[in-house]
Amino acid sequence: MTKRTGRRLAATVIAIGSVTGLSGRLLHGADALDRLEAGRLARVAAARADLAAARQTLPRTGALSEYRVNLHVHSLLSHDSRGSVAEIVAAARAAGTDAVLFTEHPTAEYDFVADGHAGLHDGVLLVPGAETQGLLLFPRVPVPEHASLSPQDLVRRVRQRGGLAFLSHLEERLDWQLDGLTGCEIYNTHADAKDEQRLFAALKNPLWLLQVAPLVKAHPQEAFSALQDEPTLYLRRWDELGAVAAHTGVSANDAHRNIGLVARLADDGRVRVCDALDEELVVLDAALVRGLLPVPEGARPGAELFRLQLDPYECSLRHVGTHVLAEELSRDGIFAALEAGRAFVAFDWIAPATGFDCALVDANGRHELGSQVPAGPGRRLEARAPLPGHWRVVQGGAVVHEADGARLGWDVPATATGPLRVEVWLDVADERLLWVISNPFHLRPAG
Ligand SMILES: [Zn+2]
Repeated sequence: MTKRTGRRLAATVIAIGSVTGLSGRLLHGADALDRLEAGRLARVAAARADLAAARQTLPRTGALSEYRVNLHVHSLLSHDSRGSVAEIVAAARAAGTDAVLFTEHPTAEYDFVADGHAGLHDGVLLVPGAETQGLLLFPRVPVPEHASLSPQDLVRRVRQRGGLAFLSHLEERLDWQLDGLTGCEIYNTHADAKDEQRLFAALKNPLWLLQVAPLVKAHPQEAFSALQDEPTLYLRRWDELGAVAAHTGVSANDAHRNIGLVARLADDGRVRVCDALDEELVVLDAALVRGLLPVPEGARPGAELFRLQLDPYECSLRHVGTHVLAEELSRDGIFAALEAGRAFVAFDWIAPATGFDCALVDANGRHELGSQVPAGPGRRLEARAPLPGHWRVVQGGAVVHEADGARLGWDVPATATGPLRVEVWLDVADERLLWVISNPFHLRPAG
């Protein structure tokens, strides 16, 4: 290679990097970049296999069934996604998801309720909704005037007609005090990504993208979930909101499938590089990029030379989910469970948390997650998980008890009031990761 060609190649490489537009849209993790190292990805994959082998199947008895729900999902109705219903349903099935609650960005071209994805598709329940004004909205009837309403009036309108409303992106909306919310996000994948500066820097480096592509292909879930950190700010905010009024905590996948890069052979023999939304970024001289993107002998126009998809739907939907305890897999069933707080959030990518159970037991029997229970003596927290883990009992934002094992039994102090919830953590490779976050029981002061 001549010095001149080398310089041109370097300039092209920098050009690819600067136009990929990846920096504003990706993943996070305090050390996501460290976690994307080949040896570590393999260790995490091995740890997941061990957990899968050790995992117990825990049958659930009683009138309520457990359904896994993904909230905050975008499809081709949103400007920043190209996902079809068939692709999202297939991903949901692969991820063990029973219901997808869509949150499209509204436009004048469609009504996000009437024209949204709805009903059972291949066994997966689809529920239409929108992400607007910092809220996740799931109305039962169209709200065509939504853009002219204040956030508080929008919440009121949706809730009065039996719909659900959740606060979204808490990291941007710390000052909000809205009445009548169903709840709030307690984890948002996109928010988890935002402060990962080292990863953003790496994403602008095309050589790093080329290097990381085979690792992502070998371990797509471990690579995606490298972004997971404890959502400290979200949990603190949720605990604060819960001290005032019950807020059902849900996880937000913020799934778009819009982070990646694809290079194809063009009709004229050049190489066409597009982003994950298939928007053309740059067209390159094949000879110029031969070393980086070799064109196979006999390749025809349209042949894919390179693909890196960092956020396929299957990985983003599996990463985290909200498990609800409902009477049936229907919009009414899911809505009733979310209204009541009968739900827990789980990072199921580590191991499916299906079968996790947590109840507050007293002389009156068993109270489900989300229940309002009068304070007083004789109340016991009883919980189980499909794998032994590290348990934390959190009351009013403070850890009040810790234990290890597959079960938890804890006598609640008679004086305890306010929200009481549990977390389960698992050791995965060299890290202790948050696995399950239950919704709280609400201990009412006596009298
Ligand atoms: Zn979103």
